[in-house]
Amino acid sequence: MSAPSTRRQAKPRPQLRMSARRRRAIFEALRAANPAPRTELEYASAFELLVAVVLSAQATDKSVNLATRKLFPVANTPEAILALGVAGLTPYIRTIGLFNSKAKHLIETCRALVEQHGGVVPRTREALEALPGVGRKTANVILNTAFGTAGSAGAPFNLGRTATHEIGHFLNLRHIWGDTPDCSGGDFVDDTPNAETPNYGKPAFPRVSCSNGPNGDMFMNYMDYTDDDSMYMFTPGQVARMHTTLDGPRKSLVS
Ligand SMILES: [Zn+2]
Repeated sequence: MSAPSTRRQAKPRPQLRMSARRRRAIFEALRAANPAPRTELEYASAFELLVAVVLSAQATDKSVNLATRKLFPVANTPEAILALGVAGLTPYIRTIGLFNSKAKHLIETCRALVEQHGGVVPRTREALEALPGVGRKTANVILNTAFGTAGSAGAPFNLGRTATHEIGHFLNLRHIWGDTPDCSGGDFVDDTPNAETPNYGKPAFPRVSCSNGPNGDMFMNYMDYTDDDSMYMFTPGQVARMHTTLDGPRKSLVS
C-alpha cells in the first residue's frame, strides 16, 4: 500500500449528507440481499416490460409471468394488444389481481402509444407517466431496466464512484473494511489495510482502526463509502483480483 496523501479536514456536514449516506447504505443492503438485482418479470422488449410492470401492481412476478407467457406469443405490440381490446385481453390476465382495471389501463396505454408515440415506448419520464396506469414507480422501472437512463445521483455521490464501487463488487471485490464491525473480517486482498468500519464524508488523515497505523484506513479506496470526490483508487491487489475474475467467472465480458 502506498501512503495516502494528506487529507482535508472533515467539515461539519449538512443534513442532506445523512440522507445520501442512508440511501447508499440501503442500496448496499439491497445489493447484499440480492447480488444480481433485476426484475423477475419476463420480457423481451421495452413494451413487454411495460405491460408486465403494469400487470405486476399488487401481484406476484410469478403470476404475471404465467399470464404473459400466454399473452406475448399472441400479442406483444401496442397495436396487437389494442386490437384484442379489453374483452380479448381479459382472459389472459384474469388470474392476476385487479385484472379489470389493469385491462382497461393497458388498452388505454396501447392506444396512447399507437396514437401519440408511433407504437414505441417513450424514453422520457414525463411521457411514460402520462400513460394510463403508469405511475412514477412503473416509469422508474422502465427507465432503469429497459433504457438504463434514469439518473438521480446527487452530491456527494454524483461523480460515478458508486458505479465504480458496484463494478468492483461485480468483479469480486469486497468492502475494504471486510463487512465486520470488529476488525475480524478482511477483503481477501493483501495490500489493503484491515479497517473496522466504513468511512463516510471526507475523513481527516489518518483514521486509524484495527491497529492499522500509521496510515490507517484506506478511505480513499473505491470500496469504502466516502464521498465521491474523496475516492480515487484501487490497489494493485484489488486490480489483480478483478483481473482474475475477468479471466474466470466474468470471462464472457471480455471474450
Ligand atoms: Zn458495496
